[in-house]
Amino acid sequence: MKLTSRRPGLPAGAVDVLEQHLALWHALQDQEQARLLEVSDHLLASRHWEAARGFALDDTTRLLIAAQASLLVLDLDVEHYRLVSAVVVHPTTLQTSGTRPGLVPGTVTDEPMSVLGLAQGGRGPVVLAWDQVLAGAHRTVPGHNVVLHEFAHKLDMADGTVDGTPLLPADVRADWVRVCTDVYEDLVRGVPRPPMRWYGATNPGEFFAVATEVFFDRPRELRELEPALYDVLVRFYRQDPATRQPLGLPSGRAGSGSGRPGP
Ligand SMILES: [Zn+2]
Repeated sequence: MKLTSRRPGLPAGAVDVLEQHLALWHALQDQEQARLLEVSDHLLASRHWEAARGFALDDTTRLLIAAQASLLVLDLDVEHYRLVSAVVVHPTTLQTSGTRPGLVPGTVTDEPMSVLGLAQGGRGPVVLAWDQVLAGAHRTVPGHNVVLHEFAHKLDMADGTVDGTPLLPADVRADWVRVCTDVYEDLVRGVPRPPMRWYGATNPGEFFAVATEVFFDRPRELRELEPALYDVLVRFYRQDPATRQPLGLPSGRAGSGSGRPGP
């Protein structure tokens, strides 16, 4: 009896799917595309993939999630994803309920809330809404990408805490804390720091997740408007995405994705 078997990795026609649906694919150099395929193959084959609420997982669904997740670790050891055990895909936005802090400090609410995705703690799964995954792949709303967001949370968790600080090289840490604290505290005070979104003021973990979305999906704006934040992200991710062009799909290639902004 065979006790272990490798799950399917990259599907046939993977490059065609990425050319058609992954806007950032077109901005990568040949060796980056090769690395993205290699990491995607590893994630597809080594993680548990599951559909929820009647959704059917197909090769395109799994590939577009794995490929976007791979972007974050193109120049990092894929071990940074050691806490990603499983990916669960819902067809569309999840509705959650339960008591949580309200918008006004000191209040609570039990209103149903729309969730585009979430990254459960520890070795818990990354949960994603497929329509949001596709919108992110197409750059329907540049700077909003639920896969980059939730997998950034997993990078953040890799050191055991969700505090907006992933596993950093020692020589980056002091600058990281100084720069991120400066921008984060302004957002908390209501001082705009574009292209960072207000959601980044929720807590330091959300700050890092939003910064990651912007770093990969609106890198030129981030480099221009927040050069210090851009710089510490370059030093962590070891990528310089502002030098990549173009970031969009060739005209007419994208299908329709939901335009609803991400968290
Ligand atoms: Zn988040």
